[in-house]
Amino acid sequence: RVPILAVVGRPNVGKSTLVNRIIGRREAVVEDVPGVTRDRVSYDATWNGRAFTVVDTGGWDPDAQGMAERIRAQAEVAVTLADAVLFVVDATVGITDADEAVVKVLRKSGRPVVLAANKVDDQRAEAEAFGLWNLGLGEPYPVSALHGRGSGDLLDAVLAAL
Ligand code: GDP
Ligand code: MG
Repeated sequence: RVPILAVVGRPNVGKSTLVNRIIGRREAVVEDVPGVTRDRVSYDATWNGRAFTVVDTGGWDPDAQGMAERIRAQAEVAVTLADAVLFVVDATVGITDADEAVVKVLRKSGRPVVLAANKVDDQRAEAEAFGLWNLGLGEPYPVSALHGRGSGDLLDAVLAAL
């Protein structure tokens, strides 16, 4: 069967934008007001001739009570159905408690994880990605989901993990 990549992370880090970048279409819903993604949405993708399924996650109100718990629970479901996980962090914000909660789930799952340091829109912002080494998930891949910067290297790492 086609391997499954789950894209997880807290709201507004750019998961759906990155999914659109990966699939080369604008099907995942991107909103400045976060929380619009339905719980899990799957898309077909290919990179370097290899097919895989991308699962976008989200779909909660970030101001709701217990948001961190909902993110954690969502990540838990996503990893069980995935062969590998693309964990997206907003490099311009840095590591938050919600990010840490997801990391615990990812570690426990034993699934291969590729860490995307998103919103690195230019060379200058690249330094911000280095702080994400502190998550303990290995190399952060700096990427701009919005502009495409770094997405080729990120996808190479994803294929190696799948
Ligand atoms: P999600 O909630 O994690 O799915 O995040 P979205 O994909 O909906 O994006 C949330 C906001 O971040 C939107 O306003 C996007 O345009 C913006 N965004 C996403 N990726 C980038 C990026 O690489 N650079 C910048 N500057 N903004 C981004
Ligand atoms: Mg989304």
